[in-house]
Amino acid sequence: MDELRAQGYETISVLDFLRAKKGKQTLPEKAVIVTLDDGYKDNYTDMLPIMESRGMKATVFMVTNDIGLPGYLTWDMLRDMQERGIEIGSHTANHMALTTMPPEDVKAEVQLSKTLLEWNKVKTVFALSYPNGKYRDYMLPILKETEYLAAVTGDPGLNTFETNPYLLRRINIPRPYFGLTEFKLRIWKAKIFARFGSLLNQQY
Ligand SMILES: [Zn+2]
Repeated sequence: MDELRAQGYETISVLDFLRAKKGKQTLPEKAVIVTLDDGYKDNYTDMLPIMESRGMKATVFMVTNDIGLPGYLTWDMLRDMQERGIEIGSHTANHMALTTMPPEDVKAEVQLSKTLLEWNKVKTVFALSYPNGKYRDYMLPILKETEYLAAVTGDPGLNTFETNPYLLRRINIPRPYFGLTEFKLRIWKAKIFARFGSLLNQQY
């Protein structure tokens, strides 16, 4: 996070991005959305203090059937995080691969998780993270119908206001074996390919 800041990035939420897309707010020149999938307990014990002490934001995508299980966030943690600047999204109810499900099951997974979060006083959930980052085109109308406004994929890359909001790309940051150098390289590669990717016709 210090490295992101040193490079001039400022964190925003998915909602900030959507509002800015509609012209309702302005974004910093170098805006980044930090997303974390699955809802592990360390999002609360480790990530939250790191972000809070730096005045940074993040978005946590929670698998709702894992809430309160050992190693996962609890309802109290989720609500407290949200009060402290962390955006909460859905990572479906069960984290099953949506791509192997019939549309009605996909709808149940995304609808149930959103409803459950909101019933338990997590503020309106409008963003989804597809399990394993995988999706199919037929899911997009389902997300719209169930009142999601955006979704993040496992597709690598950067986003602009022209990016389909249900197909937002991400830069995957796995556990770094080569420390900060690896992190810097991943950011650098994403920027290079955002600029030249279409010319090179290549993924990274
Ligand atoms: Zn996941």
